[in-house]
Amino acid sequence: MIYLDNAATTKMYDEALKAYVDVCKNYFANPSALHSFGMEAENLIKDTKKYIGKLISSNESEIFFTKSATESNNIAIKSFEGVALTSKIEHSSVFNAFKHANFDEIRYVNNDKYGFLNEEDLKNKLDDKVTFVSFIYVNNEIGTIQDIKNISKIIKDYNKDIVIHIDATQAMGKIPCDVNELGIDIMSFSAHKFHGPKQLGGLYIRKNAQGKIRPLLDGGYQEIISSGTNNPPAIYACGIALKKQVESNEYEYIKELNHYLRTLIEDNIYDTYIISPLNNSSPYILDVAFANIKSEVLLHMLEEEEIYVSSGSACSKGDYSRILSALGIEKKYMDGAIRFSFSNEITKEDLDCTLKVLKSSIDMIRMVI
Ligand code: PMP
Repeated sequence: MIYLDNAATTKMYDEALKAYVDVCKNYFANPSALHSFGMEAENLIKDTKKYIGKLISSNESEIFFTKSATESNNIAIKSFEGVALTSKIEHSSVFNAFKHANFDEIRYVNNDKYGFLNEEDLKNKLDDKVTFVSFIYVNNEIGTIQDIKNISKIIKDYNKDIVIHIDATQAMGKIPCDVNELGIDIMSFSAHKFHGPKQLGGLYIRKNAQGKIRPLLDGGYQEIISSGTNNPPAIYACGIALKKQVESNEYEYIKELNHYLRTLIEDNIYDTYIISPLNNSSPYILDVAFANIKSEVLLHMLEEEEIYVSSGSACSKGDYSRILSALGIEKKYMDGAIRFSFSNEITKEDLDCTLKVLKSSIDMIRMVI
């Protein structure tokens, strides 16, 4: 099997899985219980918050767990009112959360063909009514790394009270997420994108923004912003996975893989458009469009050889990708975008094999149309 769909989800690290099982078996008490057995489980949560807090230069009291980055994004967005700024290239859990949020107006900052936000447009759209902004840090479909530090500076220079939320789901553990360096107030992440368990998300919320957050679910407020019995096995495994991801030292290798596949495709398959920018892009993601190809057909041909990729975005089945539309991709490429996303289990031989199957499949599809 050649698994090139790591932006959709990753395989859990063995260490994370082992930690998960260990906590399920040996620390199964409710972490909210007053007895010492419960406190042991609670301590595992505290240790994890401490680790994450330190990693992103915040305090453990600013880290909260949720059920997913989808929940994290919804909590952040649905807590505010007034006028919001965001973009058209956000993940659906941000884009659609805005549709049901409490804002009087949502303004979409323009982006270029690589997904970089237009700073002049951002400045033009800022005014005294803006209370909240939400931008994606690493784009899940094409990999573009937004210059959050600069964007935050523009916003905070204009009005330091505007709350800045970023969706760091594809960034956490892979590129620096120091919240002070980035100058942001709220940040979402998700454990299953860095080899942790599924259905475990998180939120960093700066101290002075915490009073503004409104929980989506009322209950025991175990995480203050999210109710329901906490999940120590998943939380602890999340911390173990994040530490291993951060210490993996794999970034340069992933970059090598990305450039290797990029070059193989460019050199061997004609009428191809590489959507992911070459610079300021996450090496974990390579989005490529093949003219006059239906990506879904191609995806299934690859699947027959046990090569797993995603067509555009795993989160937007069906219609033209909203994100590709917002990038202004030429029509002949719109149907044919494939997202390859890497892990350090991939080898160059895997990519040679992928190229071979890709090329023969594309030749075949183009022959019959
Ligand atoms: N934001 C981004 C950028 C993502 O890539 C994803 C996962 N596709 C999400 C949010 C949602 O994450 P989760 O699966 O934890 O809800």
